[in-house]
Formats: sequence, structure tokens, C-alpha cells
Amino acid sequence: ESDGKTSTSIDGNTLVAMCLARAGVDKMFGVVGIPVTSLANRAVALGIRFVAFHNEQSAGYAASAYGYLTGRPGILLTVSGPGCVHGLAGLSNAGVNAWPMVLISGSCDQKDFGRGDFQELDQIAAVEPFSKYSVKATDITKIPTVVFEVLDRAGSGRPGGCYLDLPTDVLHQSVADSEAQKLIDEAENSRKKELIAKPLVKNSEIEKAVALLRKAERPLIVFGKGAAYARAENALKKLVESTGIPFLPTPMGKGLLSDTHELAATAARSLAIGKCDVALVVGARLNWLLHFGEPPKWSKDVKFILVDIDKDEIELRKPSVGLVGDAKDAVERIYEEIKDEPFCLGKSHPWVEAIAKKVKENVSKMEVQLAKDVVPFNYMTPLRIIRDAILGLGSPAPILVSEGANTMDVGRAVLVQTEPRTRLDAGTWGTMGVGLGYCIAAAVASPDRLVVAVEGDSGFGFSAMEVETLVRYQLPVVVIVFNNGGVYGGDRRSPEEITGPHKDDPAPASFVPGAGYHVLTEAFGGKGYLVQTPDELRSALAESFSARKPAVLNVILDPYAGSESGRLQHKN
Ligand code: ADP
Repeated sequence: ESDGKTSTSIDGNTLVAMCLARAGVDKMFGVVGIPVTSLANRAVALGIRFVAFHNEQSAGYAASAYGYLTGRPGILLTVSGPGCVHGLAGLSNAGVNAWPMVLISGSCDQKDFGRGDFQELDQIAAVEPFSKYSVKATDITKIPTVVFEVLDRAGSGRPGGCYLDLPTDVLHQSVADSEAQKLIDEAENSRKKELIAKPLVKNSEIEKAVALLRKAERPLIVFGKGAAYARAENALKKLVESTGIPFLPTPMGKGLLSDTHELAATAARSLAIGKCDVALVVGARLNWLLHFGEPPKWSKDVKFILVDIDKDEIELRKPSVGLVGDAKDAVERIYEEIKDEPFCLGKSHPWVEAIAKKVKENVSKMEVQLAKDVVPFNYMTPLRIIRDAILGLGSPAPILVSEGANTMDVGRAVLVQTEPRTRLDAGTWGTMGVGLGYCIAAAVASPDRLVVAVEGDSGFGFSAMEVETLVRYQLPVVVIVFNNGGVYGGDRRSPEEITGPHKDDPAPASFVPGAGYHVLTEAFGGKGYLVQTPDELRSALAESFSARKPAVLNVILDPYAGSESGRLQHKN
């Protein structure tokens, strides 16, 4: 300006980036384009790492997992209309898994809405079923308030997905720099306290829970990814070890206490849930994954003590005792309450002994299967070799990403989790196609850890192009594809099923046999390995684990290994 005094002005894109940076956002995931490209560039200039994907679906899965791993909302940035729609996959996945995430989408010009504008969509309506809270910035001056609010809401109560809508005209409006600073300060100072504070469990409820645990003959502590999210691992370890109560993690709860812990009931799951008389369930829903807490899997007389941040969850399940509050706080206080008059079951307690015996039996049965070198590969042989290679890495343990029906189901039993929040899988929704997004989120969230994905060829295929993203950012991710030529495997139809005018088409479940997935990554400069034998697998793992560079191991399996629908055949 001519007089040199007039302050500069900034546009909406810059203001959004400034607010995100002020709110502590340090990473974003997304796909740029009209009207948000400059938002991403501004964010990068302000120190935020922007991880650019090929597809919003995969970027959205990354944002959801990033929220889970870090405890702060993962951010997905998309363009209007179709970009927002692709982003719904990540937003819904965040909601169902109770992970904090914010979808930020550009939208069309407000004055042209309803007239067929470029990439026009009523995005607030589109996100409605999947969003805890949605808001549109209708004017540039509103940006700071809505940015703080949407971030706070994503993480408050039960975490989930929220949505921020940024119309093109608002992104192009401008305000004076000094005015922007003032608006940001005001918005930050008026953040709603009730969104940030965690509810505290009532003392009377803690006492009731402890009274039940004391009387129990066959107590069990179950914990899930809500406990992992709450970082309750140290509290749980103290409680388990001081009381001697066996524990059972859900799939993503694995690692809060090591799978190798002597009180781990994982390998005696049916006995533990079938026979326990009191179950303390921490940050895990009694949904399909836990058989709804009902017979025949659970005993009809079992008493549940549920710890959950969400009051509605407790009301839904009607446990004997419900503790509404943060898992870490609740478990710490249960421990403190017990400490005044401690009890410990001890190794020779009949319940502890029965579980330990069953664990030993089941583990040795599985070891017999695992010990064989079966070639062409079944699931067990390569999983054993991968398990041993991972255990050989010690600490920090890698983050394991797992998906695909058989690969995930068999892998869950074989692969060992020793550290908290080191497992990401298809989750509450059984979402397939999350693998590459989760790998990228994990690598970005935990730069000290290697990331190892063990996934089926169909899970990999959903977003295989994101191997380019791995290479572009040089992320330490080793993707192991269990290639059995299709969804569940190759063509398994009986001859009578193969009829009609399209009988020469490949089976709906099958892919090109022997597909060269390892070559795909080489196209971008990544390292690819074709693996068909135990020796090839051991050497590819040794090399790629120590290189800590993007790699894809194409592990060829017997196309008849595995079963249709994995372990969920009863739902088929
Ligand atoms: P899993 O899949 O491991 O069984 P779920 O996703 O079903 O776990 O359940 C996680 C539960 O944890 C959800 O009901 C969620 O409300 C709850 N939760 C989330 N954060 C916390 C927290 N900080 N403290 C307690 N519970 C929490």
C-alpha cells in the first residue's frame, strides 16, 4: 500500500489455515482442487503437514485412524460435491469406530446454490447421517468460531466425525490481518468448556463396581479401543496385576497389556466369556464383536460393569453397574478403591488356573499348525514367519494394519501385540479398503515406528494406488499382500453354479490369478518382492524391515486357502 501503514488483508483460505494451526492441528489428509488448493498450501506454509492422496476415501480412512492414534481429531480436506461424497467413507468410519475426525469440504458459491453450480451439493444434508455436528461458515468472520467448535465437538463425549463446510465465496472473501488476529483470539477464548472437560465417574458407582468385583468368583476384565483411546494401559496393568484378574482385549484393545502376559485370556476367549460371572468392560461396546453380551456365548447370569464415556451406551446395554466417564480415570479410581483392602486371586485360584490351562492347550494346538512349512502357502505358514520377524524387532513394536476376511481373522490369532495402539484393523464396521489409509496415518502419527500391513489382495486393491503416496512421502511402511486371487480366494463355484450367458466371465469373487502387485510399487520407485517360499519371505522381511522404506511383498497363497466369509460364515 502506498502509505506503508495499511494492514494487509487475508482471504478465507488463509484464515482457515491460521485457525487450524492455532488449534494445534499438525497434520491434514486430503485431495486438493477447486476451491481448497490454496487452503492446503497456506496450511503447509504455517507448518502443518499435508498428506496428499489420490482418493478422498483413503485419505478419510487415514484421518479417522490418525484421530484414534493421536487422540486429536484427524482432518480430511476435500473439494466440493464429489470430493465431499468420497469423503463420507472416512467420516462414517470415524463415527462408527468412535474416533475423532473433521471433514472439511469446500462447497459451491452460496449465491449460485440451487442453480446447478460447479460441483454443487447440499453437503450439510449429505453428511447428516454420519456427522455428530455440522456447520457452514457463511461469512469469513465466522471462520474462527466454527473451526474451534467443530474440532472441539469431534473429540468431546464419544469421539466421532464432524463436518465443516466452506463455501467458495467465503474462501474468497477477505479481512484485514489485524481483524483476523482479533477474531481468532476471541474464538479461542470463547471455546465451550463443557466440550473439552471429560465427565468424571461418581464415587458411589466406583464403590458399587468394586463391591461386585470383590464378590466375583470368576471375574474378567475386558477392554477395547475406547480404553486404548483413553490411554488407560498403565491403569489397567496396575489393576490386572494387583488383583490377578484375567483379561481379554477386543481386537484393537490388543497390546494395551501384552498378548504374552500370563493373565491374558485371549487364547481362551470362549471359556473366559462363557464362564465369567462378573465382567468389567472398559471402552468396548457389547455389540456384535462381543456377542451383545448375551447367551449362548456369555453366561446368562453374568453381571456387567461397563465403563464408557457415553451415557447413551450405558443406557442401551443396561449393565449391573454403569460408569459414565473417562476409562483411564475410572480404572485408576477402581484400583485406588481396591487398594484400601486389596485382594489378589493368585495363580492357584481355580478360575485363573482353568484359563491358564485352556490357554496353554489352545496355544500348543495352534503351534502344531504353525510349525509346518506348507507350500504353496496356506495362511498359517507365512503368518508364523511374519509374527517371528515382527517379534524380532523388539521395541518400539511396529504398528500392524490388518484387513481382509481370512488374513485378518487368522492373523488376529497368530500375530502378537505387545504395545498399546499398535493394531488397526477393519474395526466395528468390518470396513475393508482401510489398509493403505491406515498405514499412511500410522506412519505419519508415529514416525519412530515401522508400519507393517498384512492384508488380503482384495483389501489392498481398494486403494492400491496409494502405494504411490507411500513412495512420494518415503514412509516406512511394508505392505504384505496375501494374494490368493480374489475376495476370499479364487473361483470356488461348483460346476452347476457356472451357467447362463455370462458363464465365461471370471467369478465375481476372483481377480487375475497371480496378479503382480509387487510390480505396481516398482512403477513409482518403491521396492517390490514376489514371495512364494518361506526363505523368500524371511529374506524379503529382513530386507524391508531394516530398510524402513516403502515396500510391497506380494505373497502368493494357494487360491484354495481360506474360507468364504472368513470366520463370519454364519452371517453369509
Ligand atoms: P472395540 O471395538 O474395541 O470393542 P468399541 O469401539 O466397540 O471398542 O467401543 C469403544 C467405546 O469406548 C465406545 O462406546 C466409546 O464411547 C468409548 N470411549 C471412547 N473414548 C472413551 C474414553 N476416553 N473413556 C471411556 N470410554 C471411551
